[in-house]
Amino acid sequence: MESSSNGAADTVRRALATEAVHAGREGLTAQGLHTPPIDLSTTYPSHDSRDEAARIDAFAAEGILPEGPPVYARLGNPTVARFETGLARLEGTESAVAFASGMAALSAVLLARSAAGLRHVVAVRPLYGCSDHLLTAGLLGTEVTWTDPAGITDALRPDTGLVLVESPANPTLAEVDIRAVAHSCGTVPLLVDNTFATPVLQRPAEHGARLVLHSATKYLGGHGDVMAGVVACDEEFAGQLRLIRFATGGVLHPLAGYLLLRGLATLPVRVRAASATAGELARRLAGDARVARVHYPKLGGAMVAFEVHGDPHEVISRVRLITPAVSLGSVDTLIQHPASISHRIVDTADRHDAGVGDRLLRLSVGLEDSEDLWADLSGALGERARVPVPLHEAVN
Ligand SMILES: *Cc1c(COP(=O)(O)O)cnc(C)c1O
Repeated sequence: MESSSNGAADTVRRALATEAVHAGREGLTAQGLHTPPIDLSTTYPSHDSRDEAARIDAFAAEGILPEGPPVYARLGNPTVARFETGLARLEGTESAVAFASGMAALSAVLLARSAAGLRHVVAVRPLYGCSDHLLTAGLLGTEVTWTDPAGITDALRPDTGLVLVESPANPTLAEVDIRAVAHSCGTVPLLVDNTFATPVLQRPAEHGARLVLHSATKYLGGHGDVMAGVVACDEEFAGQLRLIRFATGGVLHPLAGYLLLRGLATLPVRVRAASATAGELARRLAGDARVARVHYPKLGGAMVAFEVHGDPHEVISRVRLITPAVSLGSVDTLIQHPASISHRIVDTADRHDAGVGDRLLRLSVGLEDSEDLWADLSGALGERARVPVPLHEAVN
């Protein structure tokens, strides 16, 4: 393994569960520490300004800061770097670059490609609602062509800088064959949003994705108390992303970096436990007459989507143990109505074309007991409707 600026030095390849606990914690024993220190410095002193000038020049050239303190917190932070090292190790990439949110991470990737003169993006729906909106609105000066996986090669242009897919996708849990898609991209970098699967279930870089994006707000943090994003990639692309992060300022706070590194340690245990419960709930939902359709990935995972015969708003209003809230990937179970919340910003026709129906509910299964969750969910589904309940006008 190549050594990177994140400190991913030569190591024996260890199992994921071991890496989850240990990667990013290098050098602690030598410092006489057991938990990683939280470095809250915004600036770093140096009496040698010639040396600092040389280090800043080196950073500006490749996005890699030579050994030594970060100069200023927008160039890098040691606590955040530990999380980046840990995530890169789990995704099997050379590097990772953390941002203030998943959307800040995606923005940085789009800006890096635009800066190289490659403003065209090819994307497959569905995507998370705000990712869809960012591309559709062209807020960052990009132009998007929407297609299905089979149409990717035909959609590529000389100025295509990125192909973007989510698998399993938010909120329908639709899956794409990442290896086949990567092949269709040719030399254009493929970005896979791996937020739903996490590296525990899927490592897209092993299948040819050059960029792996996470809303770390979700499973990586895992406790609903950190907002963050991260891109795992090769060192060359990571350098470009660090330069964009330096120039545009979407940095991750060191406290968040600390909490994310702590979150990685339990990621495999959390994902496997929640996935087992999700699989069981998906099975029960599929056999329930009040449910029209269940979406559960072949890959597994802790997300379940389902369509009800009745009014989805009623289901949301009746949960008691499950929290009716957007977001996902926390220790507690959340439910939301994508057409009203997570995908509200997507144009209605586009949303429907992407398979996001008005009766679809998205469940993020947490670590509670499966019988307790089923009792709550079953109660919320209510009486069996004899005829499908027509949806009110307000639901579009
Ligand atoms: C939540 C989410 C995002 C956006 O991440 P934030 O951390 O909320 O900015 C991107 N992709 C997917 C799949 C998501 O679920």
